[in-house]
Amino acid sequence: MSYFDKLRAELEKYLAPEQIEEVHKAYFVAQKAHAGQKRHSGEPYIIHPVAAAIMLAEIRIDYKSIMATLLHDVIEDTEVTKEDLISDFGEEVAELVDGVSKLTQIKFETRAEAQAENFRKMVLAMVRDIRVILVKLVDRLHNMRTLGVLPPEKRRRIALETLEIYAPIANRLGMHTFYTELEDLGFAALHPMRAQVLQEVSGKARGDRQEIMQKIERDLIQALKPVNIPVLFLFGRQKHLYSIYKKMQNKSASFAEIMDVYGFRLITDTVDNCYRILGVVHQVYKPLPERFKDYIAIPKANGYQSLHTTLFGPYGVPIEVQIRTEEMNRVAEHGIAAHWLYKSSGMAADEAHLRARAWIKSLLEMQQSAGSSLEFIENVKIDLFPDEVYVFTPNGDIMELPRRATPVDFAYMVHSDIGNSCVAAKVNRRLTPLSVPLLNGQTVEIITAPAAMPNPAWLNFVVTAKARANIRHYLKSQQFAEAVALGKRLLKKGLEDHGYSFAEIDKDKLQQLLQELNYKNFDQLCQMIGMGNQMAITVAKRLLPMDETEFLSHVSAKSIPLTIKGTEGMILAYAECCRPIPGDSIVGCLQSGRGITVHVATCPTLEQFRNKPEKLVNMRWEDKVEGEFKVDITAEVINQRGVLAKLAIAISDAEANIDNISLGSANPKSDEGRCNTVKFTLTVRDRVHLARVMRRMRANKVVVRLYRSK
Ligand code: MN
Repeated sequence: MSYFDKLRAELEKYLAPEQIEEVHKAYFVAQKAHAGQKRHSGEPYIIHPVAAAIMLAEIRIDYKSIMATLLHDVIEDTEVTKEDLISDFGEEVAELVDGVSKLTQIKFETRAEAQAENFRKMVLAMVRDIRVILVKLVDRLHNMRTLGVLPPEKRRRIALETLEIYAPIANRLGMHTFYTELEDLGFAALHPMRAQVLQEVSGKARGDRQEIMQKIERDLIQALKPVNIPVLFLFGRQKHLYSIYKKMQNKSASFAEIMDVYGFRLITDTVDNCYRILGVVHQVYKPLPERFKDYIAIPKANGYQSLHTTLFGPYGVPIEVQIRTEEMNRVAEHGIAAHWLYKSSGMAADEAHLRARAWIKSLLEMQQSAGSSLEFIENVKIDLFPDEVYVFTPNGDIMELPRRATPVDFAYMVHSDIGNSCVAAKVNRRLTPLSVPLLNGQTVEIITAPAAMPNPAWLNFVVTAKARANIRHYLKSQQFAEAVALGKRLLKKGLEDHGYSFAEIDKDKLQQLLQELNYKNFDQLCQMIGMGNQMAITVAKRLLPMDETEFLSHVSAKSIPLTIKGTEGMILAYAECCRPIPGDSIVGCLQSGRGITVHVATCPTLEQFRNKPEKLVNMRWEDKVEGEFKVDITAEVINQRGVLAKLAIAISDAEANIDNISLGSANPKSDEGRCNTVKFTLTVRDRVHLARVMRRMRANKVVVRLYRSK
């Protein structure tokens, strides 16, 4: 018996003879190409593509996908080329095979990079043809089923990748049967002992419950009889091992609690009957409040539709009931694959398909804004996190977001421009901090300002890959622009310090320098100066039409300080050791790759640069500086109740903000420990403002000493 026979038996159930003949041709080519190759188990290689193809045939996928599955390893592992496949089987099949083939021509530095780059390639192929992922999933599923024969190290790596990427993708596409099997196999490979123990106890727990399950079923069937609705009764989907394990790990429930749930699925013919069954079921047992979910009206992200309710069963056991139509049930099991399952696929199957396409499109956007394939794969992993919340726009449109999503995630979900210019959010008409996670059912309104821009701090709390990718992208381009602007000013100053101007730059020398440093253009040169990777003075020297001695002899009498106005952005940092504020005399310190850090001129940190004057930049504040600046002050106060509150009031009366407070120990030297030191980090506008704040604080009798910390 040929390996093909079992596949043929499955294909005959739904394909036309001509199509089966095509599939057979593909089998023939694959078998010939893999001839002599063996699996790790020692069996002939061809059993792998055939087994994978059978899995797709069982869910009635079209014959071209079956052909591609049979051929899926030939480009990567045999002499057969993509061109051969095009001429033998046409573009469609060849593209599917190419989509799942790894890049073999390119050498990657690390395995992670190779994985990321291959994943990126597959996603791009998925965008063109969604069936690529079906082929990839059955390939992976068969490899997982036969994982046992691999060396432990390789086994773990493949299992981890399956749990992190492929199982969640199957879930995202609603392919529940593939998803649960991939997860359980991955779990068993990664934690064999834990999987075995859980397997045993959950099997036992199920056995113990037969009787009560039967009683519940009898009660429900009895109640449904008089209403005369066609209903198919199924024991609830059992939680698969890995989901039990995850729940226990999140400490959201103990094993007993997880297992102590009795699940039923009721399948009927129409949506209307779903709601009628719900009504009947709620009369038999009382529903638990707030546990009812209408996924028919609001389907899940992967297109899943069903009514969910939880009831108080006999002896107080909770009963989870899912009610849905046959078609919804097919989508629940097979997700996007339901599209091919029966030719007369209806609304629900099409909906699952549309949603899958929308998701893949968002992957494409994500890949376009990601800086590297490694960043891309990280973003995809975040995006695959399954739980979601549903919130409303002010117009009443429903938006779906992952759990713990914030108003910033919401803003980016609406549009990246809204995200980039968002300044505040109203949740249920109340102003809410941008970092507070959204909850189901809230109405979210984003307030934007035209000049606003993304805040780097948002990266600490956003959860969607879209928000993360957009913020990073914006900051990167912003930082580039800021670095170029600062670099130009530094270069200009470098020239002016020696009595020259931009106009005197020698064009040929500029070209020569760019070539030598391998920079694309003048902007990039300025960017490198702004980032502190090139010295303005050295560059200035090279750009003027004269030699070094001539240049140096020109040192002008006074060096003109670089002015700062507080709007320079990320490229300019204020040193935390001395925290300069407008009014202080200041010095800039060039830091390779990080732009300029501004110190107070008397800051001890600057000592270490005494021998490297080229690292220091003479600076001064613009007359009108924008923004608020952090400053540290120390207060020695008498130890009594309410001291902090008094000081806090004084500070806010003077219109300053407290950024941080730290309490020091009692000071033994002063007044036998009656005094405490308190360190404040405040934000103020300038020295005048700070003086006013300190005056207010001193007005309190509890303050013994007050000074700016150094
Ligand atoms: Mn394979």
